[in-house]
Amino acid sequence: MRRHERRSGPGPLEPDAVLAVISEAYVAVGLDGRIVEWNPAAETTFGWRRPEAYDHDVTELIVPRRFRAGYLAALGRLADGDPGRLLERRVQLTVMHRDGHELPVETTLTLTGSGPDRIVHALAHDVSAALRGSRFTIVEAAVSRGLAEAPTSGDAAARVVEALGERMGWPVSELWLIDEQRQALTCAARHDRAGRDLAGFAVDELEPGAGLPGTVVRTGRVGWIPDLSVDTDSPRSRAAARTGLRVAVGVPIRIGARVLGALCVYGDRAEKPDDTLTGLLRGLAAHVGQYLERRRAEELAVDLARTKDEFLSMVTHELRNPLSVILGTIDLLDDGDDLDPGQRRRHLQTIARCADRLNLMTNDLLDLAQLESGALTVEMAPLDLSELLTESIATSTVTAEAKDLMVRVDLPPSLPVCGDPDRLRQVADNLLSNAVKYTPQGGSVTVSAAPDATAPDWVTWTVTDTGIGIPAEERPRLFRRFYRASTAVQARIPGTGLGLVITRTIIERHHGTIAVADRAGPGTTFVIRLPSKPRP
Ligand code: ADP
Repeated sequence: MRRHERRSGPGPLEPDAVLAVISEAYVAVGLDGRIVEWNPAAETTFGWRRPEAYDHDVTELIVPRRFRAGYLAALGRLADGDPGRLLERRVQLTVMHRDGHELPVETTLTLTGSGPDRIVHALAHDVSAALRGSRFTIVEAAVSRGLAEAPTSGDAAARVVEALGERMGWPVSELWLIDEQRQALTCAARHDRAGRDLAGFAVDELEPGAGLPGTVVRTGRVGWIPDLSVDTDSPRSRAAARTGLRVAVGVPIRIGARVLGALCVYGDRAEKPDDTLTGLLRGLAAHVGQYLERRRAEELAVDLARTKDEFLSMVTHELRNPLSVILGTIDLLDDGDDLDPGQRRRHLQTIARCADRLNLMTNDLLDLAQLESGALTVEMAPLDLSELLTESIATSTVTAEAKDLMVRVDLPPSLPVCGDPDRLRQVADNLLSNAVKYTPQGGSVTVSAAPDATAPDWVTWTVTDTGIGIPAEERPRLFRRFYRASTAVQARIPGTGLGLVITRTIIERHHGTIAVADRAGPGTTFVIRLPSKPRP
């Protein structure tokens, strides 16, 4: 008896089953343009479900309006028996998704059947990601050329966002930079490719930590909002969604470990995070970071040249003044055989005061030189900022009381930060002694610190006084070496103009920021932000 033999494994597949599992979109249309088949991958690629697509005119459903006449003409030629150059070869077409965004697809068309029953079969796949990769090389070249040739940082920023918009097709792109003076993020450039109405979205300034740029800057990480229309975290996302934007991607711009800003792009279709795109954007952000570093070095060089001049004039004024007072007083003492003990003591006190001033200035100069050359290390350790500030306030009570100043303190029982206790104490003493020094008799000084209300893992510390103030137009120059505000000079209050430069250098070494707050009325407020946790 012959044994019945069966082949093991599955039998032949039904064509429908194949169409259901392939990743290419399959669309079949009659020569009149009516859709006769539409597989699940087509549902994903074009956004229309099979029952919706069936029997619909393919040009109306998935062809952008401006290409419709061309598609219809091509179908007409096929109907006339002219295969043209479309059949059996890979062609790249632009199609339209249900939500209106356009995408490039690569497709192969095949014609079957005869007479009026002929059917055009299209197998297509989305090639946006692949195109992005190849276009990126062009964008990168455009960006580095743009950055090299840009006469100002504003031009450079504009060129970067324009390249992202015009060459990579992002509907909206933005470059945000931290403005330390204003303690905010400012939009250095925005490109709106289609000139859409961006009301509510196109703001020029954001609070620290706000919106996608704020999050990217705060965390120092890539931010990706796959669908702005369902993002409830930020009002700006809702405004973006109203203008038709769906996906938002932001990457940090840095110099070393320091985050300077964020490069953000917005697209008009929802998209899940994609490592290739973030890698490409990071590459661009690195170019921008290098550019900013170069500019900073150039500015430093200019600053240095100016500093030399300022240093010379400071030496002649600030150092020579106390020196000539010392020398003059010594002469008086030398010649003064008839001086009484009281007069002698007063002369010696004058010499001591001038020597103190010279000593202070020398220490400041040494500190600054060490901090700036990196020779002075900052030893980070967990510490309690409330305790540190309380100790600093205690040491200045005598001077404050002598001027009848009210010192107010607003601190939580404990406030953990990570920092160098000696250096932060130096900052605290400097800001407090300035507040006391520049506030006339009877005024008040307030020191407060608390966890940041808008950004977790940050602490905000402010020193406010009701003193002589700093004119708003002079504030941007305040952190330059030897800079003294006109108010201090007019009031003839002695100083070196070095304390704030040292303070800022220390705060930056802690990855923090310091700025003078914009405020109405007399007095000054310094605002410091420090990370409460260790940073790399
Ligand atoms: P110094 O006080 O020794 O001049 P700083 O670097 O500490 O040096 O300050 C630089 C300048 O900033 C001061 O000369 C003064 O004009 C201004 N300044 C600093 N703190 C205050 C303040 N609390 N109120 C008014 N002006 C201030």
